Amino acid sequence: MIDRVAERKAAGARIISLSAGEPDFDTPVHVQEAAIAAIRAGHTRYTQVAGMRPLREAVARKFQEENGMPTRWQATIVCSGGKQVIYNALAATLNAGDEVIIPAPYWVSYPEMVQLCGARAVTVPCPEATGFKLTPEALSAAITPRTRWLILNSPSNPTGAVYSAAELLALAEVLLAHPEVLVLSDDIYEHLVFTGATFATMAQVEPRLAGRTLTMNGVSKAYAMTGWRIGFATGPQWLLEAMEKLQGQQTSGACSISQHAALAALAGPQDFVRNTREVFERRRDAVVQGLNRAFGLRCARAAGAFYAFASCEGLIGRTSAGGRLLATDEDVALALLDEAQVAVMQGSAFGLGPYLRIAYALDDASLAQACNAIRHFCESTT
Ligand code: PLP
Repeated sequence: MIDRVAERKAAGARIISLSAGEPDFDTPVHVQEAAIAAIRAGHTRYTQVAGMRPLREAVARKFQEENGMPTRWQATIVCSGGKQVIYNALAATLNAGDEVIIPAPYWVSYPEMVQLCGARAVTVPCPEATGFKLTPEALSAAITPRTRWLILNSPSNPTGAVYSAAELLALAEVLLAHPEVLVLSDDIYEHLVFTGATFATMAQVEPRLAGRTLTMNGVSKAYAMTGWRIGFATGPQWLLEAMEKLQGQQTSGACSISQHAALAALAGPQDFVRNTREVFERRRDAVVQGLNRAFGLRCARAAGAFYAFASCEGLIGRTSAGGRLLATDEDVALALLDEAQVAVMQGSAFGLGPYLRIAYALDDASLAQACNAIRHFCESTT
């Protein structure tokens, strides 16, 4: 979709892109300044492979204070983005034939990474009826003697679904009976949880699972720092050490300047996080309302992240004004791009169709314009 949008834009089309998975804000100024100061102070050399100690201490403090987890700095690792945390963990543990349980819809990289590691992604359908969330019954049915990991992601990309502490505890009940299964908790959207919901993470709500849970987070989404490539995690020492060994031969550790910037983000004022959460919540309400007014679309109000996941079932089988048969959600996404100049992602790319993932990481005026264009497109189908 990114390539198609770039192609259309190069040809002069004015596309509104609701397909990107990153905040539209600039990195906070005090974070930018910390990076510039780090360069000037000569912090431009290799750091320790697992990350420089002041950042690891700030990461440990974050897990202690925000998540109530008794984390020491030695039990942390800093990687080049949350993505590398996940990849390191999988690569350090998976063998051919191992299975990884991935609730669907999922972030597209999970199954790809599992396959890169020679293992098998076991995707478990989580329909809208269960809030796009994994149930204890579905988890229990998916576990086999080959299961090595369960990956949980809350708030979720692509649905914005947020697991409550009670829902996590119900999953934990199943996991406690399977001591060989590791848990990867992808908390990258932690700070984007809206009014009425509360963030919870597995190692916090069920400390008996902490010894086999990797809790992953990062600065990309919370501090609008996707390009700085800093992610971090805490978990069992044996796993962190294996990940560090791997990282030592891969990247030698994350960029020193970005680590200084991430330290400023974690240790500095947090008003940016609060402000952007409020902005995203307001946008969610406007976008969900706008989508629900469109013929053939239906969209629940997700509790977090910056994605609306709208059913487009009501459009399937119809024909767009441009004469395109809308047989799948991919057809809908392509027709929207060509005929309404709005780029969204088809849900089937994330393992569940027919849905559209609409990222509301854009200013209010562009979002309103996009919703109008989508509505017009839907109404003109026959
Ligand atoms: N996990 C999820 C669910 C994501 O959506 C993303 C980024 O889109 C990541 C992890 C990776 O984040 P990072 O930019 O820190 O690598």
